[in-house]
Amino acid sequence: MNAFNKRELGEARGGSVTEIYRELESYPVNIGEKTIHAKRMPGFFRSMKTWSQVGIWLTLCLLPYLRWNGKQAVMFDIDHSQFHCFNLTVRPDEMWMMMLVFIAASMLMFVVTNVVSRAWCGYMCFQTAWTDLFTWIEDKVEGNPTARRKLEASPWNADKIIKKVSKHFIWLAVGLITAISFTIWFVDAFEFWDKLIHWQLPKVAWVTIVLIITGTYLYAGLMREQLCSWICPYARFQSVMADSSTIMPSYDFNRGEPRGKLRKGNEIVAPEGDCIDCYQCVQVCPTGVDIRRGHQLSCITCGLCIDACDSIMDKIGKPRGLIRYASTDAIQGKPTQKRFQNPWLWIYSSILLASIAGMIYGLTHMTSVTLTVRPERQPLFVRMSDGSIQNKYELKILNKTDSDMHFNVTVADGITGQTVIGSKDSILIPHQHGASLTLFVKAPSSNIANEVTPITFLATGIEDPSVAAAYGTKFYAP
Ligand code: SF4
Ligand code: SF4
Repeated sequence: MNAFNKRELGEARGGSVTEIYRELESYPVNIGEKTIHAKRMPGFFRSMKTWSQVGIWLTLCLLPYLRWNGKQAVMFDIDHSQFHCFNLTVRPDEMWMMMLVFIAASMLMFVVTNVVSRAWCGYMCFQTAWTDLFTWIEDKVEGNPTARRKLEASPWNADKIIKKVSKHFIWLAVGLITAISFTIWFVDAFEFWDKLIHWQLPKVAWVTIVLIITGTYLYAGLMREQLCSWICPYARFQSVMADSSTIMPSYDFNRGEPRGKLRKGNEIVAPEGDCIDCYQCVQVCPTGVDIRRGHQLSCITCGLCIDACDSIMDKIGKPRGLIRYASTDAIQGKPTQKRFQNPWLWIYSSILLASIAGMIYGLTHMTSVTLTVRPERQPLFVRMSDGSIQNKYELKILNKTDSDMHFNVTVADGITGQTVIGSKDSILIPHQHGASLTLFVKAPSSNIANEVTPITFLATGIEDPSVAAAYGTKFYAP
């Protein structure tokens, strides 16, 4: 037996490992052996969840139909490797902007998690939003949780077949709407519908639609909270970001325990706490968590148990808040650390602010045309027969506007008396395309004072002079 095993055994005898096993024995997560039929109760957090999910649905389904200057306002244009957002077009060479957007989004999620735990999961996550819709449909078709459990246990008959078939049919229809709505974020929405109606979609589009329908049906209809508990990576690392000062739905065990059943006439047998062991908080939980056992990995912090318990407290004439958004420290009566004293919050916030600053810089410095100039290195310069010095430059101009445009290339700064060779009056560049050209700049050696002189190239749109770009480089001389 190696030292590690001896230590493990020693710990087991000492009790620490045994404790862990004891915890595992009572670990309350449903591992798929039963379907959770959560009850729906009105309340503040129920409304917040519903409205945030309506917002997600409307954004996903309707935003792609919004037109801006004759084209789709927001689109991840796969064909042209571009991202369009109203007047903004991000091209592959500006993808660092998209990276900053993703970093900022991640940091925002980290900050939210650090402050209020998995609030993202409860209100904004696609999985919980779609699961909530699927269970709402189930509720409408098969009835409330009690009726659903009865239906599940009943033998197959006409009523059961009709209800089950109807439910799965509606689920698949929602999957189809999801698939179409998701796909049109990547292609022109109206063109997509035209091709869909005329059965002319490419194979890849059909495969995408089938995959999304299958995924939606599987994840939101069949797996539901299992995905949050066992597959979602965020569930795993969110516990690292939260600490004892993080605010999350918590059961006030000091007030609630020892719990006791309520008897007739609202009488609670003494000496009980405020919890009447009604299980309403568990019945409404979409992940099947009993919050009274403490914070758990499966809790998506949706707050529905708070609504349920508050309604019970109202009924029995006790103050609300037996389950409430509170930190572990607050529940335990410890002095609560102020959020700004948390170093992780500072780290996440700093990265978030840096990403936002980078995006603002990018947005304010983005132009409709890109000009790059590369001076010839071998040789750096050539002495001409008349004694003048000549440099060669390779230029690339990218027209990022939505119209074909003529560009005029000129040179500023440089040497007095310099001439530009190879510059035509104008060069036509189609929209969203680039063009290359070679230019020579020749200067009389008598006017050259330094080995290196700054020189600036300008590309200006003839149809629209506001579409212009400058690129500073150097003129080399002996
Ligand atoms: S809803 Fe409130 S009173 Fe009922 S079991 Fe849960 S914590 Fe106790
Ligand atoms: S325990 Fe409460 S907050 Fe957590 S998932 Fe269940 S209902 Fe939502």
